[in-house]
Amino acid sequence: MFIDHEYIEKILEEAKKATKEEINAVLERAKKRDGLSYEDIAVLLQAEDEEDLKEIYKLAGEIKDSIYGKRVVMFAPLYVSDYCVNNCVYCGYQRCNEFGRRKLTMEEVREEVKILEKMGHKRLALELGEDPVNAPIDYVVECLDTIYKTQNENGEIRRVNVNIAATTVENYKKLNEAKIGTYILFQETYHKPTYEKMHPKSIKGDYNYHLTAFDRAMEAGVDDVGAGVLFGLADPKFEIIGLMMHNKHLEEKFGVGFHTISMPRLKPAKGMTLEQFPHIVDDDMFKKLVAIVRIAVPFTGIIMSTRETAEMRRELLKCGVSQLSAGSSTGVGGYKDREEGKEVSQFKTSDERTPLEVLKGVLDDGYIPSYCTACYRKGRTGERFMTLAKSGEIQNMCEPNAMATLLEFALDYGDKEILEKSEKVISKEIENIKREDIKNVLKSNLEKLRKGQRDLYI
Ligand code: SAM
Repeated sequence: MFIDHEYIEKILEEAKKATKEEINAVLERAKKRDGLSYEDIAVLLQAEDEEDLKEIYKLAGEIKDSIYGKRVVMFAPLYVSDYCVNNCVYCGYQRCNEFGRRKLTMEEVREEVKILEKMGHKRLALELGEDPVNAPIDYVVECLDTIYKTQNENGEIRRVNVNIAATTVENYKKLNEAKIGTYILFQETYHKPTYEKMHPKSIKGDYNYHLTAFDRAMEAGVDDVGAGVLFGLADPKFEIIGLMMHNKHLEEKFGVGFHTISMPRLKPAKGMTLEQFPHIVDDDMFKKLVAIVRIAVPFTGIIMSTRETAEMRRELLKCGVSQLSAGSSTGVGGYKDREEGKEVSQFKTSDERTPLEVLKGVLDDGYIPSYCTACYRKGRTGERFMTLAKSGEIQNMCEPNAMATLLEFALDYGDKEILEKSEKVISKEIENIKREDIKNVLKSNLEKLRKGQRDLYI
């Protein structure tokens, strides 16, 4: 097993004794951006001095700016089934919870997708509970097909990431053939004893099977995988080193590690209360964790959901987050239900703003909300993506594509204010594009978008 518990505990203990000089030396190494050792990461995790923390946030912000520029990728989750055979202690869908469970028919999937398209979304995360009888892999594949085929005036979903339970190579092959974007699976906790306690008597209770899910996905040809930890279950410092070990394992075995890391914090849900969990992560610690992940894996996207408040998400964008969800519902059929005032959710969300409101906030802070899905559609995935990202070449595509998709959003779904704010950000940022040929392609694409063409990307 590649999560060496004893070793993690040992280096975390030793790092408690790190001096200011040692912390500075780690930060100096981190500035070179070619990754840190587990011991280095442990030192940063144990840092508590205000000055050291400021340095960590500053470096995380600089790394983020230089790699991601001003871009923030936008997406929304789509819950299609809450049937679940597992009994995860923290989850509203645990099988012991009694409520009217449902899964969407394809007609209902189309209705949800149309609502999401009207919000301007182009990128979804498909979510469902684990139930091989009520929601088998063929159901997931059918959902993917339905989503991609659901056109709405000038809208369509261009990338669907899938967050479903660990499964077999055969099933991952089916997902791959159905054109999933990233396969997302949260380890929940890397700490085996806690994992087993949190997932009693269930399919999901097999730690090793869950931990090796990405190995099977990659064997099946899925080359973008997105990891995550549910913060609140075990010691968060242990979890960060666990994430890094998992990432390294995939890099060594398949040549590429995580495409993204999601950082959900535990929220109240049906059948549980936060008091049951002794490792709840407070805001200061959470900010530190996000910054350290950004420093440790500069080229891996960090995803922040609406579990966090608007203020927290704003703060976290400054120290590493690169993707935000907006306007999310975490209930099956939740988007239609919300229109009818009867939404039921998997857990409580904290940022209830509409996508337009989220976008205004993001634009006001000088970022470029991006609806780009070009890499995936152009085959820039897995190792190919990472090579382009690490050489910096990806900037020539991401930056212009972000601006083009922002303008497309503003023209189709924005109000006057969004359009003005978007035009302002674009006219400023276009001047920062260094390559004249790229700048010219973008200018021409923006003009074409204003004249009614859509879906233009490099
Ligand atoms: N059922 C799938 C699986 O087994 O991996 C994943 C889908 S589930 C809808 C997505 C994620 O929601 C879970 O992996 C878990 O981390 C998170 N989640 C569950 N309960 C939560 C809670 N109370 N607060 C915050 N996140 C929660």
